[in-house]
Amino acid sequence: SKAKLFDEKNDIKVTFKDVAGLEGAKEEIQEIVEFLKNPEKYTSIGGKIPKGALLVGPPGTGKTLLAKAVAGEAKVPFFSLSGSDFVEMFVGVGASRVRDLFKQAKEKSPAIIFIDEIDAVGRARGKNNFSGSNDERENTLNQLLTEMDGFGTNTNVIVLAATNRADVLDKALMRAGRFDRQIYVDLPDIRERREIFEVHLKPLKKSEDLDTEFLAKQTPGFSGADIANVCNEAALIAARNDKKAVDKQDFLDAVDRIVGGLEKKNKIISPEE
Ligand code: ATP
Repeated sequence: SKAKLFDEKNDIKVTFKDVAGLEGAKEEIQEIVEFLKNPEKYTSIGGKIPKGALLVGPPGTGKTLLAKAVAGEAKVPFFSLSGSDFVEMFVGVGASRVRDLFKQAKEKSPAIIFIDEIDAVGRARGKNNFSGSNDERENTLNQLLTEMDGFGTNTNVIVLAATNRADVLDKALMRAGRFDRQIYVDLPDIRERREIFEVHLKPLKKSEDLDTEFLAKQTPGFSGADIANVCNEAALIAARNDKKAVDKQDFLDAVDRIVGGLEKKNKIISPEE
């Protein structure tokens, strides 16, 4: 089947309420919501609306969720794609696909474009450039830069991009008028883990013995995605045991399973250990 380059969603329901913790990031990105809701307020007095912001942080910390929440809060269409898809699936046509994407977003503006894993296309140019595929990647990156430079101040398309490797990105991406704002999305601390548990416990039938403070204490180093996994895993374990509600033991078992999975994953990533 033919792979789709990007996904377009016009009715995003995610709002800031769905994003637990991350107060600083939400505060910073709130400004982008304001721009999208009411661009004239800024442009009429000569202000320039930012074109892009980079969401930087470890995997599973809610970067995609936060980008969706911006679209949900501002009630604008959300165009999304992943940088790695770009490089793997669209050999030879990356640059023209970028053009298509921006064209469609402009037609529907105000709109958000979200590029996950921007490092896959956005690594610094001119390094290790021994293969044709690198030229392809560079063409795609150059087109992205061209598109961002090309929109006027009244285009009202804001590009959000996520990465966990801001250090490898081409500095040209961060230049003024491109991704000139960086928003940090870190692993949650204990208080934030508690809040994330609250969000993901909501849809579950819970037993009386559950308490989010305890759960937060059991999960140091967990990302939001890990916590969402724990909650779902605990529900599956409870159901498998014919329980009517998810209890503390189900959570402890779920945490063990997730920790086991994380350890395996780390072994694969660093085989020298
Ligand atoms: P990656 O870098 O791996 O793409 P990401 O930072 O984009 O990860 P998300 O895809 O947004 O992470 O998070 C995955 C899921 O984890 C979310 O859909 C949500 O269910 C849960 N999650 C992550 N962070 C949070 C959070 N702060 N509050 C609530 N849920 C969260």
